[in-house]
Amino acid sequence: LVPAPVVGSDPASAGSLDVLGVPGEINLDYAATAPCARVAADAVTALLPWYASVHRGAGALSRRCTLAYERARQTVGDFFGARADDHVIFTRNTTDALNLLGRALPAGTTVVTFAGEHHANLLPWPRGSVRLPVPADAAEAVRALDAALGELRRAANPGLPVLVAVTGASNVTGELWPVADLARVAHRHRARIALDAAQLAPHVPVDLLALDVDYVAVSGHKLYAPFGAGVLIGRADWLDAAPPYLAGGGATARVGAATHDVTWTAGPARHEGGTPNLLGAVALAAVCDALAAADRDALHDREQRLLARLRDGLGALPHVVELRTFGPEAPRVGIVSFVVAGRDSADVAAELAARSIGVRDGLFCAHPLARRLLGEAAARSGRRDLPPTALRASIGLGSTEEHVDRLVAALAARR
Ligand code: PMP
Repeated sequence: LVPAPVVGSDPASAGSLDVLGVPGEINLDYAATAPCARVAADAVTALLPWYASVHRGAGALSRRCTLAYERARQTVGDFFGARADDHVIFTRNTTDALNLLGRALPAGTTVVTFAGEHHANLLPWPRGSVRLPVPADAAEAVRALDAALGELRRAANPGLPVLVAVTGASNVTGELWPVADLARVAHRHRARIALDAAQLAPHVPVDLLALDVDYVAVSGHKLYAPFGAGVLIGRADWLDAAPPYLAGGGATARVGAATHDVTWTAGPARHEGGTPNLLGAVALAAVCDALAAADRDALHDREQRLLARLRDGLGALPHVVELRTFGPEAPRVGIVSFVVAGRDSADVAAELAARSIGVRDGLFCAHPLARRLLGEAAARSGRRDLPPTALRASIGLGSTEEHVDRLVAALAARR
């Protein structure tokens, strides 16, 4: 298949933020992996002749690659509002970034999450971590965190660190979590907060400083850049004190002859052992540059119009029930999960695929949340014939009204 551009009819989707695609294939699965932006492909193509080692060679090509890699770090850090003394560490994806943070926690750290998180933000945390129930709305999330942190401070050694780990936007419902408010509560209790921005960053600007979060984790492949390029940005102290995430070349300042005689570097290199993913980092930086130059409000408005069209279309189908945590009016990004009453979700997804419409089915790597929302959907709709897994449609820069309408029409025709 030769990639060809799929450009929306709306001017807001054209220009430097074109995405690649295959003619005739409707991709409504941006939340899993977004298509590659043309700027990312161009940045990779431009660098290919310079292909050489990063941080290891003395040749001109190698020096240029090292420069490109470090410039990408600066660009990505600036894009996400990194503070001057934050570390910007390239990882494979959000899962990798959160696992790295999990390994860098000082001994005795308690991590507080909500049960609504993606597995990547539920599972990397140490035993003894606290998992709060899925709240009914944003205000309850803030109140519940406040109460839990107050309780922790009374119960645990007040000297031990606490990290709150929350998502910015749910990968199941697209609903936005009140990150700035949660950060305020966390800091009032002298806890730190990490933001899983995997689903937030592709849709709205994420600024570490403005949100006042301590760490942010992102996946390049959900942000129109290639696979294998993610980032963890945040406070340097824990990261510099932790054992290296990947022990090996590049992470060391000095290695002696004795087995454990090693001095690890400080800074991002400490956790980036091995030859880094230059092309991924440069492509991610190219997308960051393009998004920084774009009219994000216009892109957001366009996406919200498409999302409303999608939700209205699905809402008009009596056999379709939407999954949601915070209520129908809660602000959200371009993600909708739903079930077709009386139909197995995998079968519906396969039928859509046969019509060249790609969606996702399952529990979306958020089993506790998805199961709970399926139960609530059954209770809300009063239907006993809802399937045990769901479908998810998600949109982004290359999505068009036609894509949305084709999905709705296909679901209306098949029940
Ligand atoms: N967090 C959220 C909210 C996600 O949606 C995802 C991906 N579905 C992840 C974390 C993990 O991202 P990755 O698979 O790129 O590591």
